[in-house]
Amino acid sequence: MTVLASGSKGNSTLVASATTRILVDAGLSCRELMKRMKAVGEEPSALDAILITHEHQDHVQGVAVTARKLGIPVYVTEPTHRAWVRWMTPQKRITYAEWLEQRRASAQRSAFSVQDNGGRRTEQGTGSRAQGADNGWSSAASDQAANRELTTKDERAGSEQQTAGGGEDFTRGARCSADVGVEPDEEEKAAVEEILSEPEKDPTSLPAVEYFRSGNGFRIGDVAITPFTTPHDAIDPVGFVFEADGVRIAIATDLGYMPSNIHVHLRRCDVLMLESNHDVDMLRDGPYPWSVKQRVMSRVGHLSNDAAAEFLAKSYDGGAAYVVLAHLSENNNLPELARISAERALRDRMSLLANHLLLAEQDRPLEAIVL
Ligand SMILES: [Zn+2]
Ligand SMILES: [Zn+2]
Repeated sequence: MTVLASGSKGNSTLVASATTRILVDAGLSCRELMKRMKAVGEEPSALDAILITHEHQDHVQGVAVTARKLGIPVYVTEPTHRAWVRWMTPQKRITYAEWLEQRRASAQRSAFSVQDNGGRRTEQGTGSRAQGADNGWSSAASDQAANRELTTKDERAGSEQQTAGGGEDFTRGARCSADVGVEPDEEEKAAVEEILSEPEKDPTSLPAVEYFRSGNGFRIGDVAITPFTTPHDAIDPVGFVFEADGVRIAIATDLGYMPSNIHVHLRRCDVLMLESNHDVDMLRDGPYPWSVKQRVMSRVGHLSNDAAAEFLAKSYDGGAAYVVLAHLSENNNLPELARISAERALRDRMSLLANHLLLAEQDRPLEAIVL
């Protein structure tokens, strides 16, 4: 198992047996995923499938481009797939003139909101859906911007960044000439017209989609996979247990609390990847708006250091060779706080052979865990 990235800016982990290689979530751009795989000595073309936990952007950002580039199937639950397609697809096709008018209006609105809110909101926008150049199905970032703007109903599935950034702001990072109050250039006009005239250029098209259901095991190659439901504010979020070659690996991130039915899945694991998202005090005193703080702390938000530690101390069987703390918040946590609280919980169960503690990182891959 190799954690390529973990955190609210993107999640992706490679799980491999002797013969099967599976990417769990693709929350970075395709380009960045490829770069990180190569950095850890993995050949992207050897991937057999992509498996998706839920539709939040930090888990799916690069899924379509990566799947298309490699020609591999995406395994996902049907509700999650539908939510992702809905989020990616314009609700109503409009004319170019209507689009331009909307862009002008939104540019006027954003001129005010930028003054009101300074750089933070701009940064949130750039962090979510704005990396158009990396999403290889389009020739220019501007047609991605157009695609987003063609969505007239704001019924997209939520993402951590979107929620944190205040909903509508995720278009901010996209460079579109309407944003700066000038006429769109020829390239931009052409890109928009292309989207309007060629519906078959569908950003949600995938080489193959395989549906699974939470609770129903299935196989990819020689890897047996058991998806289990997690309490999180997505449409049908899951965690996974993987078994192959006598090794058992569990991934449980993006969960507001640790329900007892998940305890069962996390038994007898050789590797346990567990969310340790935030320090409750840092979150409470931190920069997020209160509504976002409430969301993160809720029963469908993210697991705190304390909640992860409580699980490790009271309900975990102590049998894993590696415990990987994951999805650490950059704003509301410190790696040392997460580590100390997990170490305290594991106390005398840590040894050379058991409960080796690792912290997954946002900006670089972890070294491969080989069993
Ligand atoms: Zn997440
Ligand atoms: Zn999530």
